[in-house]
Amino acid sequence: MGKRFSHISQRGYIKMGIKVAKFGGSSVADAIQLAKVKSIIEADDSRKYVVVSAPGKRFDGDSKITDLLYLCNTHIEHNVPCDQIFQVVVDRYKAMEMSLGVQVGLDEEFAEIRQKLEAGEGADYIASRGEYLNAKLTAAYLGMDFVDAAGLVRFNEKGRFLDEETDQALAEELKKHERAVIPGFYGTYPDGKIKTFTRGGSDITGSIVAKAVEAEIYENWTDVHGFLQADPRIVKDPEPIATISYSELRELSYMGASVLHENAIYPVRGQNIPINIRNTNDPEHPGTMIVSKAKPEDDGRIITGIAGSKDFTVITLCKNMMSSEKGYIKRLLGILEGYGIGFEHLPSGIDTVSVVISNKQLNGSLQDILDEIDRKLNPDSVEVNQDIALVATVGAGMAKRRGTAARLFTALAQAEVNIRMIDQGSSEMNIIVGVNNKDFETSVRAIYAAFVTDGK
Ligand code: ASP
Repeated sequence: MGKRFSHISQRGYIKMGIKVAKFGGSSVADAIQLAKVKSIIEADDSRKYVVVSAPGKRFDGDSKITDLLYLCNTHIEHNVPCDQIFQVVVDRYKAMEMSLGVQVGLDEEFAEIRQKLEAGEGADYIASRGEYLNAKLTAAYLGMDFVDAAGLVRFNEKGRFLDEETDQALAEELKKHERAVIPGFYGTYPDGKIKTFTRGGSDITGSIVAKAVEAEIYENWTDVHGFLQADPRIVKDPEPIATISYSELRELSYMGASVLHENAIYPVRGQNIPINIRNTNDPEHPGTMIVSKAKPEDDGRIITGIAGSKDFTVITLCKNMMSSEKGYIKRLLGILEGYGIGFEHLPSGIDTVSVVISNKQLNGSLQDILDEIDRKLNPDSVEVNQDIALVATVGAGMAKRRGTAARLFTALAQAEVNIRMIDQGSSEMNIIVGVNNKDFETSVRAIYAAFVTDGK
């Protein structure tokens, strides 16, 4: 045995060289895409565990299998026949089975699914079949074992994900399989009933599998080259991000940049397993590497990315001597809590505090909240702005450089953007500005130009 394989971990895995490759919906949408998956797997012997989503869209206007399955379930719940939609699903899998030249007993599988669907097994069960069947097909096609996530990915009776139990169960089972395909997106309650993660949850399965087999890397194969420094719908041809830290990614995802399910970060983060976002349609491209500590000095960049979104409300309270009044902010947050509303940001001054809430959350309760604030907090003045967009400029490199904030504010001033609010995260990794909704795109472009286009 060569040196490379000499280290056996406590769990019995050969430590070096295991890669977990998760393929998203577009990467497994049909037999053509699966052929790409096969050559990716064959190109690197260390890609031993594969996690798949359900087949996604093949072209613009196509349907995702998961959406069709949910739709079937809704039909049944309303006593409307769903035969036609179900048939679309059957046909898609059958076409894949035929083109791939494998046989996984689809007729029996579909008979069982149909019967459980009619018996009211529920949305989670039906939706999970998208991944289940796809993993069966993929396993047969790649010549790997099929390992069902049911019984291994575990939730408690309340539906909370049980990370440690899952980790042990997966590690124990996967040890028995040198190579395996595991369906993403779902697991089981203690009574064996299927429970799914939220949409896009196959990313989480990939991450927990990577943790369980102590992978050296978690590859997340999708249809983009990774993260970009800004939204390509706003900035033309933004630069790709080669390396990003988990924390930077968290900030960018929170502010609207989406490639990866946000809960996919935690399992691998604790184990220092990097995530590599890759493009199935361009496998030579290195993609984006998500690591525990990105070294921004490596590529000279100051900022890592810009993200943001529109439609927030900012409520600003002023009260003389607020800072010496005990529990003032706590009471403010208590009022919001009473309406089931969480806040996004809470910038404060000596005698002022602003609370930023997404308009979606407010959902018609603004006036009641303001009345209650008036009664219970007796502020000197209250200002409300319902038309705010937030723009986050994120980068671990910002803290070390002098003049970053000045450069950002100058860029916005020159673009004639009026800044309505500033919040610098205590991590010094981001600066968030609130601007009017109408200035959102201008602000993103101005910041991008100041930090990326006009030199680093
Ligand atoms: N198929 C599921 C969805 O469409 C899960 C996934 O693809 O990650 O949300």
